[in-house]
Amino acid sequence: GSDLAGVRTAAVPDGAGGYAVTGQKIWTSLALDADWCFVLARTDPGSTRHHGLSFLLVEMDQPGRIEVRPIRQLTGTSEFNEVFLDGARAAETVGGEGNGWQVAMGLLALERGVSTLAQQIGFARELDRVVAAAVASGSAEDPVIRARLVRQWAELDTMRRHALRTLGSTGDPGAPSVAKLLWGGWHQRLGELAVQVAGEAGAVGPEPWSERRPYELDSAQHLFLFSRADTIYGGSDEIQRNIIAERVLGLPREPR
Ligand SMILES: Cc1cc2nc3c(=O)[nH]c(=O)nc-3n(C[C@H](O)[C@H](O)[C@H](O)COP(=O)(O)OP(=O)(O)OC[C@H]3O[C@@H](n4cnc5c(N)ncnc54)[C@H](O)[C@@H]3O)c2cc1C
Repeated sequence: GSDLAGVRTAAVPDGAGGYAVTGQKIWTSLALDADWCFVLARTDPGSTRHHGLSFLLVEMDQPGRIEVRPIRQLTGTSEFNEVFLDGARAAETVGGEGNGWQVAMGLLALERGVSTLAQQIGFARELDRVVAAAVASGSAEDPVIRARLVRQWAELDTMRRHALRTLGSTGDPGAPSVAKLLWGGWHQRLGELAVQVAGEAGAVGPEPWSERRPYELDSAQHLFLFSRADTIYGGSDEIQRNIIAERVLGLPREPR
């Protein structure tokens, strides 16, 4: 969650050169499909906050030691899961014991910032589909819809330039947070526009429905619903604003 340094999942040496990991994590995307996961765990039992953490690689196929409980969503599908680790074996660390915080921060900076350069190719395709749907439904003639489509295009272009500019600037504490704030909100607004341009059809799911997928979604509905999480995962908008406030603007620290 937001208080990542409060991690309580713990790992102890297993006597065979690896670790035994015990703890739990909710909202683990695609854990049911994954062969491996990475776990930030406390390897120094006396440590606090961001000290004494290690970044561990864990194989998922460990019956009795790892249990994955799917979280059923309103749509009937389960992309997210709660994962329980009970002495799960981790064979190795990334970056060595005790260096987990640095590895995790490097990974989060990538997820929030530079990785979005590739993601924006997908964003551009989604925007193309929304523009085509607006033309097909006739809503592209509505001046408000037109203005919002143009704005989405201009903002996507701005995001792409920001991502390119920050490619070579490692160590800029604000850049990944600025990127995350830009694309999270942008993607949500595109989702809202996608269902709006579809008109009444945007509110109705396509058939056939099944027991396993009771609410089949078209691409616009999928974009609308799943983009709600974009301002949460990878660090919420509030956390990105705190990072910019404290590390870039030098404002007083948020009361903890
Ligand atoms: C779709 C989805 C997929 C995810 N996938 C994964 C995954 O694969 N692996 C994984 O490890 N995690 C995953 N997560 C978890 C995600 O990282 C957390 O949900 C996120 O960091 C927020 O933490 P939280 O849910 O514990 O909310 P909390 O931390 O409890 O936050 C609740 C609210 O309080 C606000 N808040 C918290 N602290 C502060 C503060 N100091 N100042 C101001 N506001 C604050 C938050 O912004 C938020 O609005 C996923 C989440 C979602 C929604």
